[in-house]
Amino acid sequence: MGKYKRILLKLSGEALASVENTVDPGTLSKVVSIIQSALDQKVEVGIVVGGGNIFRGAALAEAGMNRVTGDHMGMLATVINALAISDACNRANINALVMSGFPIGGGVCDPVDHNKAKQALSQGKVVIFSAGTGSPCFTTDTGAVLRGIEIGADIVFKATKVDGIYTDDPVKNPDATRYESLSFNEAIEKNLQIMDTAAFALCREHNLDICVFSMLEDPNTLSNILKGESFGTIVSQQ
Ligand code: UDP
Repeated sequence: MGKYKRILLKLSGEALASVENTVDPGTLSKVVSIIQSALDQKVEVGIVVGGGNIFRGAALAEAGMNRVTGDHMGMLATVINALAISDACNRANINALVMSGFPIGGGVCDPVDHNKAKQALSQGKVVIFSAGTGSPCFTTDTGAVLRGIEIGADIVFKATKVDGIYTDDPVKNPDATRYESLSFNEAIEKNLQIMDTAAFALCREHNLDICVFSMLEDPNTLSNILKGESFGTIVSQQ
């Protein structure tokens, strides 16, 4: 048995799309193989997915839209992504179900219920949480921490384009160095753009670690981290 029994994996909307406003089939199959590799290690997997590939409330507000309506659109975008991931999982014989942070009827998905989610996870099903926190003015990172707390996850894995948290943007600054670990206080004080302060503060309050790692360049990274053979950056109480 590895270090983690139950994880919450946060996937951004952008991680699913090669082109804006789409869900990329190739990327979806990589996501499925990453999920499968965690299940193969008997790790229970909850997922929170973002919606930034389709809509972000802040960007819609900048273009003149009401912010709350924009956030509702952003949250609905996460539901679209969640349905795409669950469909891809189910086609690969991984039993997956979607829950939403606000009620959506018509058999689309169930509302979030932490007891039902935990029961499904313990049966080896993948639970994909959509609609973030269910309220405007939050992000899906905060939603990921919230759902992580609700399901009693051992850790939140946040998939990004780079292999951890750096002192500066490694794409723009070749001298940027990677942190192996950070405390929640350091992460908040340094105002790292990797996750918002609300998400870090919630983790600090509930002592839930975060691991930032790169997912798509090597689909084995998550499974290697779960085996203790690879590491991203860990943010913890310290
Ligand atoms: N959103 C929200 N409340 C939440 C989570 C998300 O209003 O609890 C909205 C917000 O407009 C956000 C959008 O949904 O911009 C998509 O989520 P996010 O930007 O976190 O997606 P990601 O960057 O992970 O793709």
